[in-house]
Amino acid sequence: MKISDAKVFVGGPGKNYVTLKIMTDQGVYGLGDATLNNRETLPAAYLQDYLIPNLIGMDPRNSEDIWQFFYRGAYFRRGPISMAAFGAIDMALWDIKGKLANMPLYQLFGGKSRDGAMVYAHSTGVDLPDLMDSVESYVEQGYKAVRVQCGIPGMPTASYAVPEEKNAGGDYITDFSGIRPKTEIWDTDRYMRFMPGALAEIRDRFGPDLKILHDVHHRLLPREAAELAKAVEPVGLYWLEDPTPAEDQDAIRLIRQHSTTPLAIGEVFNSIWECNKLIENELIDFIRIAVTYAGGITHAKRVVDLAGQHHVRTGFHGAPSHSPISMAAQHHLNAWAPNFGIQEYLVLGTPECDALFPSEHKMRDGLFYVSEAPGLGVDFDETEAKRYEYKPGSHPVVRLEDGTLWNY
Ligand SMILES: [Mg+2]
Repeated sequence: MKISDAKVFVGGPGKNYVTLKIMTDQGVYGLGDATLNNRETLPAAYLQDYLIPNLIGMDPRNSEDIWQFFYRGAYFRRGPISMAAFGAIDMALWDIKGKLANMPLYQLFGGKSRDGAMVYAHSTGVDLPDLMDSVESYVEQGYKAVRVQCGIPGMPTASYAVPEEKNAGGDYITDFSGIRPKTEIWDTDRYMRFMPGALAEIRDRFGPDLKILHDVHHRLLPREAAELAKAVEPVGLYWLEDPTPAEDQDAIRLIRQHSTTPLAIGEVFNSIWECNKLIENELIDFIRIAVTYAGGITHAKRVVDLAGQHHVRTGFHGAPSHSPISMAAQHHLNAWAPNFGIQEYLVLGTPECDALFPSEHKMRDGLFYVSEAPGLGVDFDETEAKRYEYKPGSHPVVRLEDGTLWNY
């Protein structure tokens, strides 16, 4: 059996999904997602210029050797662009493997550890009452967990994942359009004064059962993060996410020394080498890697297995930049992983997205159920894909009020 061809598509409804389709000489094909948000053309070029020419003629069943060929075979290893490109190939090869076995992917990992896997939604508000309305709407829909992000009184601009106008609530997705980034202004003092009380009010309003998550998005210094993690202990957060920039992992130790608030880290990590010490030293509670830019299923599964030995649960990244293909890969891992925690989940199920990526996967009452279709259980409609083209975008940049550049 041989890989006969592979194609890359860039585009989609509202997002520049990078979709890889690998064809074989036996007619079975596999799909992968190489979307790297706001840098989408780069993994696409890596695939087209370097990886696909090497893939042609390889046996698609040897997914491990192909992964090693691209990882060890590249002198300059790791990094989000190359790992996203390898990740798409790896997903597509697992998709082919599942189709050949006529089994849904989770069966190849070891079967199901649960039927429905818990997901969390994004709640957001310009202020606390607006945020409460958003949380309420998710609770009414049966969600068991929500991530809460709130406008900060006195902050000169909307901060991370917060809309500029009321009632954006459940449908709000940050606008990344335009190649030149928008600027957000950040003030740590205002945030630190406001956020612990706001989280406490959300807990009071919704009671003890709702799982509440909050994303600091790398904005704090280590000492400030320790202060926040300690201050919110009475709230009983499900997790506090990315309190400090991911490069300095010793910062996590400082936070850990001062607080028992669970920590979720790692959505920007690309390999096991960026999180193995955090996991082995049991400094985090949830690992946030994504199948997309952590080298696909083969590599992500190694991280999950290591995490499982150290009481660290999964909480895969699930921002809207992940296409239904990589989300399906994560949902299959979630169905299997003995150390599954939770899955970040945004409803991408617009008619346009469903038409481009048809599947029978279902979310119901805050739990995700994978379909029994062979492989990833997601298809890709190439005719629909012709409707879309690449649109440049950029993440905002963050500055302090005096103009100093800060962490987005
Ligand atoms: Mg995050």
